[in-house]
Amino acid sequence: MAFPTHARHVVIGAGVHGLSTAWRLAERLKRSGRANGTDILVLDKTAIAAGASGIACGVVRNNYFQPAMRELMAHSVDVWETDPKGFSYHPVGYMQISHEAMREDVASIYEQQREIGYDSDFIEGEKDCTAYMKGLLSDWRAEGITSVLHEKRGGYANNTAAVYGLADKAEAHGVRIMTGVEVTGFERGSNSDAVTGVVTDRGTIRCEQVVVAVGPWVKTIWDMLGLPREVSIKGADGRMHDGIPTWRYWCLEEGVIGVDPDLQRLNDGGMPPVIHVDTDAPLHSDVDGSLITEEAWGIYYKPDFHFGGVQGGAMPYEVKTPADQVAIDPYGPESPEFIVGDDFAHMWCSALAFCQERFSGQIGKFRKEPSGGLGCFTPDSFPVFDTFCENVHVIADSNHGFKMIGVGHLVADEMMGEKQALLEPFRFSRYAEGKLHPLSNSPFPWS
Ligand SMILES: Cc1cc2nc3c(=O)[nH]c(=O)nc-3n(C[C@H](O)[C@H](O)[C@H](O)COP(=O)(O)OP(=O)(O)OC[C@H]3O[C@@H](n4cnc5c(N)ncnc54)[C@H](O)[C@@H]3O)c2cc1C
Repeated sequence: MAFPTHARHVVIGAGVHGLSTAWRLAERLKRSGRANGTDILVLDKTAIAAGASGIACGVVRNNYFQPAMRELMAHSVDVWETDPKGFSYHPVGYMQISHEAMREDVASIYEQQREIGYDSDFIEGEKDCTAYMKGLLSDWRAEGITSVLHEKRGGYANNTAAVYGLADKAEAHGVRIMTGVEVTGFERGSNSDAVTGVVTDRGTIRCEQVVVAVGPWVKTIWDMLGLPREVSIKGADGRMHDGIPTWRYWCLEEGVIGVDPDLQRLNDGGMPPVIHVDTDAPLHSDVDGSLITEEAWGIYYKPDFHFGGVQGGAMPYEVKTPADQVAIDPYGPESPEFIVGDDFAHMWCSALAFCQERFSGQIGKFRKEPSGGLGCFTPDSFPVFDTFCENVHVIADSNHGFKMIGVGHLVADEMMGEKQALLEPFRFSRYAEGKLHPLSNSPFPWS
């Protein structure tokens, strides 16, 4: 294919958001009769699913303390459910299993799930929680658990397979996906801020609208666009807090214990929900009984044939290096710096054994291959979905986003001129206006 010099809509990034946007936009253009998918060009510097979407654990849940996040997730779960096979989506459900400090937060999540008709059960009290969990998994033994939220919808999807599924849908509508093309800058109009051309290492592509869906690389593109490197945030007390960096990085720690995934079947032989446990009970080593932590800790896990074992993760850690100096490339398992080590394996496998006896003594099966990866976070760790420079639509999900398969649909609808209420709480202006999302008591920056 000759390198294109013009495309009405250029999407940067062939991950979950770029491809979901391209797919929906192609459908909308076709329906409008004014244009079609061939007016959309997706560019990726590496390959389809080369970013965070291709290494994500793939968990799809509604469990968020923030009402706006929950409504957005419910919309995305609807999209996952439209084609489970095409997205390699496993609707096994999701469980948030928590200690006392989180009980009220999770109870309010349950109440609001009822209000929006999102099917879930809520169990309270240590005895009842243990009985409920043992009813599902007879070897359950986690201590200090006083609430269980069992979401009947959601589950997980196989990361690369889901992204390829999206690419198929976009291409079926005529969208062109070009890989090995790196965006290096932007051309602007002479009398406006709008982008008139996307500059790449292969040439410049004139365009009318741009979508930026570059996951952990968002800061690079943001800087190319000349957008603010710091924000001012209005606190709850009405005071402005200036000079807060727009972007920072956290490293996600995940891994696989190479047991037969069938080991984690339910008592009735079915596949279990994704399990997420947060507790403040002391965690001891499954190897030698030594104390690992007395702080609140959390893990998540699921049997996953795609990963060939039981896969999951623990709390991420904040990368303290200034954002300008963080090496995002090589990304994911290729990174020499941001992959998990022995400490993670010890903690996560011991935590699995803390929850279920069947995992005790299995640490030797932890896969030594590199895993984990960087995520780019906003100042409040919640997404920014907004239009900048008049015609640049930025999808910066603050690393919440594999599950957010529906966000691209909403962005595409906005590109068709229809403002989306579900995206309103995620505008950049919320920082200066002090319209922040409420915070939970979870040890994770994304709950
Ligand atoms: C280890 C890990 C586990 C995770 N687990 C989950 C989970 O279980 N559930 C969940 O909901 N979320 C999860 N996430 C978060 C989720 O993966 C991301 O939020 C989401 O995948 C981001 O999607 P994206 O489309 O914005 O970006 P990406 O999938 O990162 O895609 C961006 C693409 O842009 C391309 N690109 C970058 N710069 C340029 C450029 N200059 N020119 C051209 N192309 C460029 C890259 O090559 C890449 O392919 C996880 C993240 C990590 C790191």
